[in-house]
Amino acid sequence: MSTEAVQPGADQPEQRRIGVYICHCGGNISDYVDVNAVREALAEEPGVVVSESPVFACSDGTQHDMIDAIHDQHLDGLVVASCSPKLHQVTFRNVAKRADLNQYAYTQVNVREQASWAHPHDRAGATEKAIGLVRAGVAKTRLSDPLEPLVVKTEPRTLVVGGGIAGLRAAIGLADLGIAVVLVEREAELGGWTGRFGPTFPDNRLGSDEVDELVEQIRGRRDITVYTRAELTGKAGSFGNYDVQLTLHREGSDKLLEVRVGSIIVATGFDSYAPDEGEYGYGMDGVLTLPEFKAMVDAAPSGPLTVNGRPVRSIGYIYCVGSRQEAPGNEYCSKFCCTATVHASLQVAALDPSIRQFHVYRDIRAYGRNELLFNESRDKGSTYLKFADDNPPAVSKLANGTLGLTVTDLLTESREVMLPVDLVVLVTGMVPRQNTSLVELLKLPLGSDGFFNEIHPKLRPVETVVDGVMIAGCCQSPRTVGESVAAGLAAVAQSAALLKKGFAELEPLVARVDPDKCTGSGACLTTCPYEAITSIQWEGRTIASVDPATCKGCGGCVPLCEQDAIDLLGYTDAQMRAAIEELVAAQPQKEPVA
Ligand code: SF4
Ligand code: SF4
Repeated sequence: MSTEAVQPGADQPEQRRIGVYICHCGGNISDYVDVNAVREALAEEPGVVVSESPVFACSDGTQHDMIDAIHDQHLDGLVVASCSPKLHQVTFRNVAKRADLNQYAYTQVNVREQASWAHPHDRAGATEKAIGLVRAGVAKTRLSDPLEPLVVKTEPRTLVVGGGIAGLRAAIGLADLGIAVVLVEREAELGGWTGRFGPTFPDNRLGSDEVDELVEQIRGRRDITVYTRAELTGKAGSFGNYDVQLTLHREGSDKLLEVRVGSIIVATGFDSYAPDEGEYGYGMDGVLTLPEFKAMVDAAPSGPLTVNGRPVRSIGYIYCVGSRQEAPGNEYCSKFCCTATVHASLQVAALDPSIRQFHVYRDIRAYGRNELLFNESRDKGSTYLKFADDNPPAVSKLANGTLGLTVTDLLTESREVMLPVDLVVLVTGMVPRQNTSLVELLKLPLGSDGFFNEIHPKLRPVETVVDGVMIAGCCQSPRTVGESVAAGLAAVAQSAALLKKGFAELEPLVARVDPDKCTGSGACLTTCPYEAITSIQWEGRTIASVDPATCKGCGGCVPLCEQDAIDLLGYTDAQMRAAIEELVAAQPQKEPVA
């Protein structure tokens, strides 16, 4: 990028007709920023023909006023200074569209978070900053070009990675909507963790039965192709048309298969926390993790439970093993394991009500109707003892060969008790499955906890920043079977929304190479994290080219081109320079130091 300064709007200020709206946000902005002063300052700007300060810019009434002004004043640019674009950019783009104004001639300026909320004790300073921000927005809008969304055809087929309960249910949901499915599972059998479970909460249905039913349905569907002992090992193409490479691990050799899909749902599940040797006695005879204990109870549907050939007469459960630890441990709550343990203890009570069960916990998080299971377990004789975060229980071997579980119980005036038990169950939570190659291949972002990250936990809970790639189930965070299935179906709805129309509209705010300026140096080729830039031949020369459907518009390649041959549509160098010039001009001038 060159450093040549461009005067704001020097190209064409008088040719543009821009409407500016500075929102009060019902006091959120106007209590800290003098919006009338901002409105008056902006009214003087070249090219600004409407300057208003509504109480709520997003209200229906103000939106109609904007549409009327666009028509009556022949506006060709719109600037709203209000809250974050995350909240209302779409709202005001739609206002522009409804008024037949190109939606990319709209600029949102965030004066709420960046001026009023950032400087609540400096009204004059916040007002000055707001004026600078809005002038920068106007400067950018003056140089805006009309843009149209990119339209790409989409392949009506989805790749589901992972044949656990979320992936299986997603595959059926997609097929029900007429979308073909390719499902890959790296194990020899479908079903994941749930397929190995006996009774599960809340309804006591066998996990294996639930999986068998889904697998039976899938077998009867011609539009679902299943590959077990298979992995996703390659991906090319762009949103709506991914060419994926599958590796099928077969006797003696691997087979490669290429399939074109429009979207990908990742449902690769979780691993169970593996305690270290000696952690709460792990490694001693009779100390088990929750999955090991669950398998033991499921395998003894009519009793008796035994350990080393002896009948089990007493069990101690230690909750939160590997969860809710201080960094660098797993700081999060695994959410399912309290209820899973309470439920398993009810299975034990049904096998033999005389077995004594002691639950040693920090907090019990059996939420919603799972609370009823907690009450039932107490009614059936389970005893609950609470330990302090900084005083965890200890496990020891007793002289008679059984185990001693020592805990300082906050519920009995912090008395230390030693419980002789035959089994100690470490209530282990979920940890993210190590999927390094998949993460690199799909460019999936990970959260600080190591699970895959969605775009927004509430509003876009299964979408990732990679267009057309969704996540579902426990690869995203610890969750129950029901919650995993719900996420799988959410990913189905999202996939269908993308694929059913046969085409998709993408943001045109992407990088573009000027072939006349590009010297083909290749400096940009390796910078793109999404591999959107390739070399092509153009009029006998090698130049760089950006695939607009793959480009995410991050702008990372722009400053690396010494020829200034790459520009970002909607955020061109000229627009950004003009905006920066306005912001620099708005800086209070400091007295030179003598
Ligand atoms: Fe601890 Fe319960 Fe959360 Fe599991 S679900 S981490 S046992 S609080
Ligand atoms: Fe890649 Fe970002 Fe450049 Fe687009 S703007 S080509 S995503 S580096």
